[in-house]
Amino acid sequence: MAAALGDPVRHALESVLDAVRDRTDGDVASYIPELATVEPEQLGAALASTHGVVHEAGDVESEFTIQSVSKPFVFALAVDALGLDEVRRHVDLEPSGEPFNAISLDEASGRPRNPMINAGAIVMTSLMRGDSADEKFAVVRAGLERFAGHDLLVDEEVFSSEASTGDRNRALAYLTRSAGTLGSSAEVATTAYFRQCSLTVNARDLAIMAATLATGGVNPVTDERVISEDAARWTTAVMTSCGMYDESGDWMVRVGLPAKSGVGGGIAAVQPGQFGIGTFSPRLDARGNSVRGVATLELLSQRHGLHMLQHH
Ligand code: GLU
Repeated sequence: MAAALGDPVRHALESVLDAVRDRTDGDVASYIPELATVEPEQLGAALASTHGVVHEAGDVESEFTIQSVSKPFVFALAVDALGLDEVRRHVDLEPSGEPFNAISLDEASGRPRNPMINAGAIVMTSLMRGDSADEKFAVVRAGLERFAGHDLLVDEEVFSSEASTGDRNRALAYLTRSAGTLGSSAEVATTAYFRQCSLTVNARDLAIMAATLATGGVNPVTDERVISEDAARWTTAVMTSCGMYDESGDWMVRVGLPAKSGVGGGIAAVQPGQFGIGTFSPRLDARGNSVRGVATLELLSQRHGLHMLQHH
């Protein structure tokens, strides 16, 4: 459903991309060795309305690994399948103010602080139906495919690279296992989680996935209900408080859109009731957020009054 020539939303996206294109600060992620090989100049953005119209600018076809942008969607699947009370027995919903890979657990309950940091995300993946890593990953994949509206592939190079260097994530899995909050063995959870992070998407996919949260759980392009309205609202709430790593508070002041970033360079942002935006640019700031993705969303928000707490 590409919008017609003269599409003002596309022009707005293009104009913002032009304004941020020259920024060369930041570095591509290198702690997963394979991610360091990505072409750093890529830059794309897409906006999907809750009516299913998609507007695109720049490198919207470029594929990259979803990484942590998967976390809210897997949280949504967990809540949808198990209910919020059961999920909350395994993870808290408080902003941690700590980096994504922090060794973070609430002392008393053994729960990770929230499902947007790795410890909490690995626990969410462990709660997926099935016993083996393959079964759990199949549930994750099928769910993310319904959010995106089509099949998603695994980048096997990124998967092997992350699996061979992911000992910190294994440590988080063992820690949560010993605290009683992991829903499987540590090995099953991390294998499924590494595959989840290695699913490839493009900026358009992220826009449609975010728009599926914006509608309250219905993919606006396929018209399929993916999750319940409650699950969509709770997920968007957690993105609001915890989505941008330890920059989440500052982000809500400056940009004012619930969002989730990933070290592959993607960001998905939600304007409830209106649209989802996906951006892609691989160079990251010190906290792991895409430099030009953040700049794109900040400028879009300022120019077009998108802050969700704006008085209209
Ligand atoms: N797969 C990455 C990790 O667990 C995801 C990190 C991210 O995108 O923040 O280290």
